[in-house]
Amino acid sequence: MQKILDKSAAGEELTLKDVVRLFSADPEEREFLFETARKIRDREFGDKIFTYGFVYFSTYCRNDCSFCYFRRTSDLERYRKSVDEIVELSKNLRDAGINLVDLTMGEDPMMYKDGCARLLEIIRAVREAVDIGIMVSPGAVPKEVFPEMREAGADFYACYQETYNFDLFKKLRLEQDYQTRIDVRRWAKEAGMLTEDGMMTGLGETLEDRADFVMRMGPQGCEQIRAMTFVPQDGTPMSELKAPDSTAELLAIAIMRIMYPDKIIPATLDVEGISGMVDRINAGANLITSIVPPNKKLAGVAQHELDIDNGHRSVEYVFKILRDIGKRPATNEEFREMIEGKRKELGGC
Ligand code: SF4
Repeated sequence: MQKILDKSAAGEELTLKDVVRLFSADPEEREFLFETARKIRDREFGDKIFTYGFVYFSTYCRNDCSFCYFRRTSDLERYRKSVDEIVELSKNLRDAGINLVDLTMGEDPMMYKDGCARLLEIIRAVREAVDIGIMVSPGAVPKEVFPEMREAGADFYACYQETYNFDLFKKLRLEQDYQTRIDVRRWAKEAGMLTEDGMMTGLGETLEDRADFVMRMGPQGCEQIRAMTFVPQDGTPMSELKAPDSTAELLAIAIMRIMYPDKIIPATLDVEGISGMVDRINAGANLITSIVPPNKKLAGVAQHELDIDNGHRSVEYVFKILRDIGKRPATNEEFREMIEGKRKELGGC
């Protein structure tokens, strides 16, 4: 293990076998990996942690992903927020000191109509109202929409492959095209946006699958990369599966940090709520995502209710916990500087 870490620290490329070895760390080795990842994160980013707020503005979706609570065939009450409501929520996040608003939706046919006109209107309205970062997570929109999303004011585009194992992908993202889901991130980059990819752990993937995913994240060039533990959802074909613990996700966070020191790597509140946040920060994450304002009738994705209305995913609570562990929320100026640097690397303005 030490040899592999030395190799990585010397800038040498790790092999699939090396990364599989890291994923098979025993409990003592895991602690060592987390410690190494923390040191690298602190060297790169100091004591600051970036913070993203989450506005899941439409829970309608045309897709039928087998792991997702909001899949098309689920019989549930859905909502679609108005432009004014979305702007108001974004302003609240800005006023609270959050660095970026993540505008997320299911693949809502209404938002895809007329060249994604409504989606673009929402991005424009939020851009006009707030000067913080904007991430869009609208699913696999058509190629011609990417330059328009960038022009409307989106900084980031997020779209998760979940797995690069083709057979597993087909079982998860039913009736969706594997290659298109890869292409969309490239189209976003070509349009000048920063991008995010993500893997899901605990779905029956092998250690090789996990290692393969992490290895592909480098050449693909996403500025933000994540791992999230699968959470079985009521009413889905995967509801009866045993919920995995978060060990694989924590290891993935640490390994990604070791291999890609300057990437933005989230600690999500959407899997284990506030109780899992500190573990993820301690594994090398440098961003808290899925902060949700309480009592606004907003859902999370993997955990559609967890810690939302008790306020434990609220800005104040998250900031307090961060300070308790000797970290601090990054200022908007620090965040802007970071993304401008990354955009320059991309060759954009
Ligand atoms: S994961 Fe996204 S695309 Fe798939 S069903 Fe859920 S909301 Fe729709």
